[in-house]
Amino acid sequence: MKILVTVKSVVDYNVTIRVKPDGSGVDLTGVKMSMNPFDEISVEQGVRLRESGAASELIVVSIGSAKSEDALRTALAMGADRAILVETTESVEPLGVAKLVAKVAETEKPDLIIVGKQAIDDDSNQTGQMLSALLNWPQATFASHLSIEAGKASVTREIDGGSQTIEVDLPAVVTTDLRLNEPRYASLPGIMKAKKKPLAKLPASDFSVDLTPRLTVLRTDEPLARKGGVKVGSVAELISKLKTEANVL
Ligand code: AMP
Repeated sequence: MKILVTVKSVVDYNVTIRVKPDGSGVDLTGVKMSMNPFDEISVEQGVRLRESGAASELIVVSIGSAKSEDALRTALAMGADRAILVETTESVEPLGVAKLVAKVAETEKPDLIIVGKQAIDDDSNQTGQMLSALLNWPQATFASHLSIEAGKASVTREIDGGSQTIEVDLPAVVTTDLRLNEPRYASLPGIMKAKKKPLAKLPASDFSVDLTPRLTVLRTDEPLARKGGVKVGSVAELISKLKTEANVL
């Protein structure tokens, strides 16, 4: 069984982001980029399935500029077998990503595609769902447990008030949630080995896919600065402040 995992390079979650002065987006100059945390979880799951013998090959794919190569190398160091970078310097919206990954899937013919539930930069939570629609494959979103048996994926999903386990026929698209696993760190030998693993670079323009943006970002704002706290002398003062200043009572 072949697994394809999508990997997006995003601003590292430890970095405090800066909005460009004209509000047109986030300033990425000199900012540390890393693999999207949900994609680390997807790679870990793919590696575990291959290690357990449930899968025979794990391929990782990223859509982006040459900078995305680092995230792919990390995935290779974690244990993926080979990587594909679909290169573009343009920013690609979730629908465009889904279309390109669908094309890669047509060639690679994976039995399972594991996609992060959401990219922490655009928070779209769209790509996996759109990909499953484009391929006409079943989808199981927000997986907190995933196992493969007899041509089916069994997926447990956290829902309101509990969890739900569903089964989908392969090939399928599964999106990963935080509690699925704890990703391993790329070990030094893993990093050394990753340098020799295959990484194919394919220009996005070769895929004949319409990547025309459909969304217009009107404005990007920094979160409001937090106001300092105050100490109150009594419950009565607290209630009065909640009523008259915070206007929440
Ligand atoms: P989103 O729909 O943008 O929130 O992203 C959800 C998931 O889609 C991410 O966790 C990635 O697995 C995948 N994805 C989104 N954009 C890209 C990209 N440029 N390259 C590879 N995978 C991507």
